[in-house]
Amino acid sequence: MKYTEIMIRYGELSTKGKNRKCFIQQLAKNLRRTLMPFPAVKILAKRDRAHLLINGEDSDLIIPKLKKVFGIVNFSLVVRVEKNLKIMKQTAQSIIKEQYKPNATFKITAKRQDHDFKLDTNELNQFLGSAILKCLPEIKVQMKKPDINLKVEVRMDGVYFFTSTIKGAGGLPVGTSGLGMLMLSGGIDSPVAGFLAIKRGMKIEAVHFASPPYTSPKALQKAKDLTQKLTFFDGSIKFFEIPFTRIQEEIKAKVPLPYLMTITRRMMLRITDLLRKKRNALVIINGESIGQVASQTLHSMITIEDVATAPIIRPLVTMDKAEIIELAEKIETFQISVLPFEDCCSIFAPPSPKTKPNLEKAREYEALLDVEGLTKHALENVSVAEISATENTEQFVDLL
Ligand code: ATP
Ligand code: MG
Repeated sequence: MKYTEIMIRYGELSTKGKNRKCFIQQLAKNLRRTLMPFPAVKILAKRDRAHLLINGEDSDLIIPKLKKVFGIVNFSLVVRVEKNLKIMKQTAQSIIKEQYKPNATFKITAKRQDHDFKLDTNELNQFLGSAILKCLPEIKVQMKKPDINLKVEVRMDGVYFFTSTIKGAGGLPVGTSGLGMLMLSGGIDSPVAGFLAIKRGMKIEAVHFASPPYTSPKALQKAKDLTQKLTFFDGSIKFFEIPFTRIQEEIKAKVPLPYLMTITRRMMLRITDLLRKKRNALVIINGESIGQVASQTLHSMITIEDVATAPIIRPLVTMDKAEIIELAEKIETFQISVLPFEDCCSIFAPPSPKTKPNLEKAREYEALLDVEGLTKHALENVSVAEISATENTEQFVDLL
């Protein structure tokens, strides 16, 4: 039996009331982009389900792509036929015959959305069940955990048959929750934080601080490669590279060692926040997790976030490193993150950074720097690359 369609279930989406229409439109748009390599596929996004008409494309290639689209709770390969009992009977028979193996058990699970259909669900189960027993007398009916559970849904536009349901990525369609700036280092955590933000429907732009020649072109490339991995979930991501050398040298020359990390972080956050404003992004996302390192104690977070004017989203805040690594492996960023190229923070890291930096002191030490001049210089020299899943086009542009 040839599957003609893929039925997509939205789950969480369908409870979104007034926003539903916008969510469905965005999901349809994301599906269209994801399924670009399959031009014959037709996407019908309806109120409670989306349907992909396969039109001769290879469903084995489509399925792995669908598994990465957020906003899909699950999906099934289905056969759709008209509401005609004879055709329905033949369809049920041929699907079961095809899947039957000696000693296999089955059941029919009928559902009816069209309440005017001539058979109710019990009658449908009976009707199709006995049709199957007629053509395969050796098969057994089993209600609990049968080998084949043939699901039959009588909907307004036809009758759908399917035997399996594939888990989707969950979450919300990318683009429905607004734009956030992801502070992306080359480490393990920030790409995972970006992934989780994308999963909740956020569109992200990556901000990376580089300090050449202390940090190498390879470290920069690593951050870009990590961004590219994230584009599998979000078609294309802007990558902002911020020159941070001058700032780090200034900090090292003027700030007392225990506060070096705190002030470095404040400068990074301040610049990210200014960029966020220019980009009309709503929030900043980072990869911090409570207590992981000195700059991520609650005291540090408070002292550092003093400079931000927008909320900071920390998707990993309560996660253990092992849990983060597990996710990093799943999204295939881990093997890139562990490549040994130094990040700007590790190079200038003091031997014993303050774990409880004092806010007033941090402000005082920071005042030793020309904060405005340094910030302006960094922002004037930002370069941006558009990173997409398939290509990596780069341009040096006058920022915004
Ligand atoms: P990661 O694995 O994401 O580097 P980490 O555990 O190494 O995190 P830190 O180095 O303390 O932690 O960084 C905390 C967060 O600050 C990072 O998750 C990231 O969001 C941001 N960050 C650190 N370094 C940079 C950088 N060079 N460019 C942009 N953001 C950075
Ligand atoms: Mg790091």
